[in-house]
Amino acid sequence: MLDTGFFLRWMHASAVAVDREAAHLTELDSPIGDADHGTNLQRGFAAVTAVLEKDAPDTPGAVLVLSGRQLISTVGGASGPLYGTLLRRTGKALGEAAEVSQQQLAEALRAGVTAVAQLGGAQAGDKTMLDALEPAVEALGESFSAAREAAEQGALATVPMLARKGRASYLGERSIGHQDPGATSSALLMAALAEAGAGVEEAS
Ligand code: ADP
Ligand code: MG
Repeated sequence: MLDTGFFLRWMHASAVAVDREAAHLTELDSPIGDADHGTNLQRGFAAVTAVLEKDAPDTPGAVLVLSGRQLISTVGGASGPLYGTLLRRTGKALGEAAEVSQQQLAEALRAGVTAVAQLGGAQAGDKTMLDALEPAVEALGESFSAAREAAEQGALATVPMLARKGRASYLGERSIGHQDPGATSSALLMAALAEAGAGVEEAS
């Protein structure tokens, strides 16, 4: 089972990964965006780390709802409300249980990803974070490492895509040939999930 500590580890590993990769994320956001994705997420996850320490939420759902709310209120770019919605909706779907199964997490994350698609009006193939998140959620039923791998492949697969949502879509054909920054950060969050899950994988 996955306890509150697991979810705190996930958020902590996400903050560390975003910090480490901030320059790279911003670099990806230069040719097809406004060069702020790394700094946006760095600010957001620093705030997440701070609020988790201060408020010490004591259920898996509460960790994610609080983190999502913090991202929404501290990140100005499109990615703030989108990632905030992902975590908040996933957290709400987990309810108030003290521990959840890997299967419950996979289902809750599916609800979170659906909420992101509704909020942003994007679908798979539009060259957004959904191109990493959707395959990752599918693979999460199998294992954490499968989800990480699927997200990485999904992010790489955005390179030849034409952007249909967000700032990159303003570039039309010129968005082709660049990896989507949001899909790349989603792969980082899935890698952080796998890191948090190392050693707690359940036999299914
Ligand atoms: P902004 O575009 O406002 O500068 P960021 O640079 O932080 O915000 O985030 C850009 C990323 O957000 C994109 O790479 C893309 O993955 C994601 N994104 C933008 N719009 C949407 C949308 N409508 N649906 C899903 N993801 C989106
Ligand atoms: Mg940007």
